[in-house]
Amino acid sequence: MEGTAAEIGARLAASAAALEAEREAPRFHPMSAPIDLSYTLIENYERCPACFYVSQVLGLGEAPTPELSLGGLVHQALEIHAKAWREAEAEGREPPDAAALLAEGRTRYLAQVRAGGVAEGVTLDELLAMLSMANRMLEENRAEILEVERRISMPYVVDGAGHRMIAKLDRIDRTQAGIRIVDYKTGAASKAKLEPKKDDLQLGIYAMVVRHEMPEVGGHAEYWLLRTGQRGSIELDAIDEDKVRARIDKAVRGMMAGEFPSRPGQSCRGLCAILGP
Ligand code: SF4
Repeated sequence: MEGTAAEIGARLAASAAALEAEREAPRFHPMSAPIDLSYTLIENYERCPACFYVSQVLGLGEAPTPELSLGGLVHQALEIHAKAWREAEAEGREPPDAAALLAEGRTRYLAQVRAGGVAEGVTLDELLAMLSMANRMLEENRAEILEVERRISMPYVVDGAGHRMIAKLDRIDRTQAGIRIVDYKTGAASKAKLEPKKDDLQLGIYAMVVRHEMPEVGGHAEYWLLRTGQRGSIELDAIDEDKVRARIDKAVRGMMAGEFPSRPGQSCRGLCAILGP
């Protein structure tokens, strides 16, 4: 490369400036509106913003797995069962029994295994025990089933920017006390699930989207714990929507400001390494 000493000096200075700019470039790019918000999205951001950035924004680090998901199988079988239950009630017939639900679960489990799914960590007995429990809870807490796997979306504004809040509800029933929003849980029981607080993020978001559609409605939002048969319930009126919104708004502001610090916790999977030092 030829040139005067002054030209060479200018080229060197330009490449040094480019290197410096690269070094100072932000590691994270802010997200922009509209964002499709959901309980899972907000919860993932709250747990570790850096991990959220790698998996949700960059789309990295989530290896596809052939493992059967206990939660997925339970939800699928219960969706079919609850729809059949609702249909039978509408036609004045007896709802399907536990045997029908167990048959549904068994068929789905075996179909997935035959399709190449690996039953690692999920046994057929475990699945059937959970479905048996779910049916017992349905029998013991009988109510009219209004909606099954209902997806609700509502506009959600933070600092003037419009987003969408999207929720998929396992079930909505009509009881004597109003409606009952039900979310099935297949994990271990915990105090947070047995005694939901007034700023419970998941039930708070579910109550908010339902009330967006039915502003005057009262009733309860509940976790149904399918390992133990327990229910964690909170009255819709007891949910502090302002507190729930404050949690959501804080997370959205962080996403839009490009704030994705790492927050080490029990669920660390080493994704920080992708982001470099
Ligand atoms: S390894 Fe831990 S701290 Fe790092 S991004 Fe993942 S969850 Fe966050």
